[in-house]
Amino acid sequence: MKITAVEAIWLRVPPLDQPCAWGEDALVVRVHTDAGLVGIGESDSAPSVIKALIDAPVTHSTCKGLRHVLLGENPLEIERLWKKMYRESEYVGRRGAGIHAISAIDIALWDIAGQHYGVPIHTLLGGKYRDRVRAYGTFSARPTEDANRTVVARLLAQGLRSVKLGGGTFGHDPAYDMKVLRAVRAEIGDDIELSIDLLGRWRNAPHALTQCEALREFNLSWVEEPLPSDDLAGLALLGKHADVRISGGEGLATRHEFRSFLEETRPAIVQPDITRCGGISEMRHVYELARHYGAQLVPHGFSTGILLAATMHFLAACEHGDLIEYSQSDSPLFRGLVKNLLPLAGNHVPVPDAPGLGVVLDEALLERYRVRL
Ligand SMILES: [Mg+2]
Repeated sequence: MKITAVEAIWLRVPPLDQPCAWGEDALVVRVHTDAGLVGIGESDSAPSVIKALIDAPVTHSTCKGLRHVLLGENPLEIERLWKKMYRESEYVGRRGAGIHAISAIDIALWDIAGQHYGVPIHTLLGGKYRDRVRAYGTFSARPTEDANRTVVARLLAQGLRSVKLGGGTFGHDPAYDMKVLRAVRAEIGDDIELSIDLLGRWRNAPHALTQCEALREFNLSWVEEPLPSDDLAGLALLGKHADVRISGGEGLATRHEFRSFLEETRPAIVQPDITRCGGISEMRHVYELARHYGAQLVPHGFSTGILLAATMHFLAACEHGDLIEYSQSDSPLFRGLVKNLLPLAGNHVPVPDAPGLGVVLDEALLERYRVRL
């Protein structure tokens, strides 16, 4: 079997000159083969940038567009192809967007392999430990207490028993944060897990430590990205002294960044995004590192049903992969791009058992939101 084409498809709901929210754009990859099998992947990054990294012509031996690295290759040789892509895009890649692009292709290669062997990806990864994974829902803070109560009530009505609040107006003003958390905790009661995501907004470690202490009464399940992820010393200090679990890592790529992050900051929870960290292949290394450093792996995930399916296959095959983020986006790219989107059943997501990734794309929707410059 040979790779015959690599498509990088940029999707976007609002027009290019309008603001775009989380989940309203996406970069989908399709890898075609001479056997007729087509693998699907995605990267949750800047779609135009990832598209350029895949489509670019060859500049020299370490600056190749990924399509050129792959054409004519056997898609089943995933590990060798991952290393080839990494080396041959090294000057523009190695971290960040270059790895985001590899992530999308890696997922598509696993999809092809699963279809070829007639088994779900979690079987190729060594076998599933469970048939469903518990989910949590993320919502961004609204300006008023009532609006926050309404939105969190909607999450609980879906059956979720774990929620996370972050982004929007949250994390800038301690007095406001306190008011929002008080309203949310009152709405959900004491038995629902509540976490917060700061997106690195707290100004430094002493400030973050004071905040963690001030928020103790809310019995938070974890505090996510309290400081920017490059503030390793600050995060280490916080991890050691805060009386709450600290998490982070959704922006990191490759085992190398995760090793530094885990070793130097010792987070309780690490949150790689499978469409950014290096795909399914690299996430396996991150999982083993997390185990080594005693951290729980709870993946980040807030894009299309392709990301959701890839994350589910991965978690199903992890001994301790028992919590997944379930997007609360109303974007058609989440709700409709994958026709057989994995549902939220109560507070769990069922593990898919179809061969490969098992996703079926809505071609009409894909064409409707496709950006063609
Ligand atoms: Mg986050």
